[in-house]
Amino acid sequence: MIPHLADPIIDLQNIRREFAAGDTTVVALDDLSLSIQPGEMVAIIGSSGSGKSTLLNILGCLDRPTSGAYRVARKNVSELDADELAALRREHFGFIFQRYNLLGDLSAVENVEIPAVYAGMKARERRTRATGLLERLGVATRGGHRPNQLSGGQQQRVSIARALINGAEVILADEPTGALDRRSGEEVLKILKELHREGRTIIIVTHDADVAARAERIIELRDGKIVSDRRTEGAAAPEPTEAIARTACDSGAGWTGALGRLREASRMALVAMAAHRLRAFLTMLGIIIGIAAVSSVVALGNASQRKVLSDISSLGTNTIEVFPGKDFGDARAGKIRTLVLDDARALDRQSFIAGVTPTVSTSTTVRYRGNESNVLVNGVGESYFQVKGAKLAKGRLFDSDAVRNIERQAVIDDNTRKTFFADDQTSGIGRVIWLGKVPCRIVGVIAQQQGGFGSNQNLSVYLPYTTVQAQFTGNRALRSVLLRISDEISTNLAQDAVTTLLTQRHNTRDFVILNTDDIRRTITSTTQTLAFLVAAIAVISLVVGGIGVMNIMLVSVSERISEIGVRMAVGARRSDILQQFLVEATLISSIGGIAGILIAVLLGVAINIAAPGFQVTYSMFSIGAAFLTSTGIGVAFGFFPARRAAFLDPVVALSRD
Ligand code: ADP
Ligand code: MG
Repeated sequence: MIPHLADPIIDLQNIRREFAAGDTTVVALDDLSLSIQPGEMVAIIGSSGSGKSTLLNILGCLDRPTSGAYRVARKNVSELDADELAALRREHFGFIFQRYNLLGDLSAVENVEIPAVYAGMKARERRTRATGLLERLGVATRGGHRPNQLSGGQQQRVSIARALINGAEVILADEPTGALDRRSGEEVLKILKELHREGRTIIIVTHDADVAARAERIIELRDGKIVSDRRTEGAAAPEPTEAIARTACDSGAGWTGALGRLREASRMALVAMAAHRLRAFLTMLGIIIGIAAVSSVVALGNASQRKVLSDISSLGTNTIEVFPGKDFGDARAGKIRTLVLDDARALDRQSFIAGVTPTVSTSTTVRYRGNESNVLVNGVGESYFQVKGAKLAKGRLFDSDAVRNIERQAVIDDNTRKTFFADDQTSGIGRVIWLGKVPCRIVGVIAQQQGGFGSNQNLSVYLPYTTVQAQFTGNRALRSVLLRISDEISTNLAQDAVTTLLTQRHNTRDFVILNTDDIRRTITSTTQTLAFLVAAIAVISLVVGGIGVMNIMLVSVSERISEIGVRMAVGARRSDILQQFLVEATLISSIGGIAGILIAVLLGVAINIAAPGFQVTYSMFSIGAAFLTSTGIGVAFGFFPARRAAFLDPVVALSRD
């Protein structure tokens, strides 16, 4: 059979590589042409600075020539984009470095798996292959060790296993024995020789003539030019084997591959965070504080708004209350005696008013069997309790007959019951108490309502207003008139009508009207303004937290530039690198978010226990929103650092120490 000459697997035509060095340019490779057949074992030698590494980087698609054509298995490399180059590095080439370049945070077997992760290989297959390779290279027992627990020779074997895991056809080794002792170096060369016998193309860069002598072809460089290209003695011309270069397939791009890579990126992010726990925690702290503060302030605001609204909703929607005085908090309001019972009667005659309850009040002492205390005596109408939303705990309320007949019937609040009748089976019902000099019979007890009626510490007693006027205040001036508006008319219209009527009667406007709708609206708008302010502060604090995340991610990227270089050399796409750092930033901030939410919830529970009137609650919606916010911060502020990492030049990254 006549051997036909196969296509070269590597073909360089007039390659030139220049580097800018200050004002001048350094020519590292000068019009270099070279072709290598599949299955060859080639040594590239030359003194330091002769361009060996530059050549190897171009061969491995880590670097691009300034000019000239490079073909890998007939494919023109200059036409490939970054991801296609990454695919070539991942599937086609295997790199072995002088300094092994293993990732220190990963075990030996995990290091071997990295290229397979990017190739989208299934986890189980990956692990089987990796352990198989480690076994073959004689380091099976070291699979779980970290690189710093391995000798140089062992590390180099691990890195060879890494180069082989995706079935690389071309092994590129830059001074693979340079950092090893004689014996370990010898073993590494034996392995490379064996790989060569399997049909792989091996290209070794070395400055050691002994090492070069193991190859069948030696290419010598000087000042970026090939000065000799010869076969070693006894080395036959290359067995013409077919260029088996598979087209660089992007097997990791599928749906399951992408998911696998995302999982791997998350794991890497956790590994990186575990390696810098304190730093990760401090970075999180900004997010934790921000989210905890925002969540709890919002919840507190909601709780207090709810409480106030429930307090006033007990007043009923259609009630308005008229007080004497020119304004709320009028200091002379107590002296204004123009709001009188006749006003109440006149209002009662209006068709739009469903009910009128005049109120009067005074304070006096209450006595029962030698106990004595101050009490607020409220004179009210029979419908007062219903309008105010008070609930009866025991006994009964007084009725319209009692009001008409000026009866001395008293309804006491829970504070009064506790003060005088704590041990009394009757809760005071039927007992006679002395209000000042007036004996009154207790007919009912009003329940204490959480945050509502009778929730303060004062003792209150309710009598018919007629009784209070007759027995205590002696005049006809009222503390207020509570009006129930009939449902047919709007509260505002009723309020206008009341204002007109009373102004006519008094010839002046010496009263104020409290409209429950107004109160509700005022409270709602006040809390909304507050909520807006809080939200503004929250946004600022979260932005500060986000900047913290960005800052640390930038540090993290610049600390791990050589790791990024290694990952790119073994075939990571730009998107893989972007994803890894983005996931890390997102994890940091969403874990911070979860911690912040937990703190806020605990704070809410503590407040609920300490202040029973408050009901601080967290809806699933607000928890979800807080979590999404923290995650969003991670994505937004992690993107810039991650992009910076992803767009690093592989060679530049690799050469950084
Ligand atoms: P070798 O590996 O044979 O020792 P290199 O390929 O590393 O040599 O370097 C060849 C020449 O190119 C040297 O003169 C070196 O200074 C120069 N060179 C290599 N990389 C760069 C770079 N990134 N920037 C500037 N000059 C460089
Ligand atoms: Mg070099």
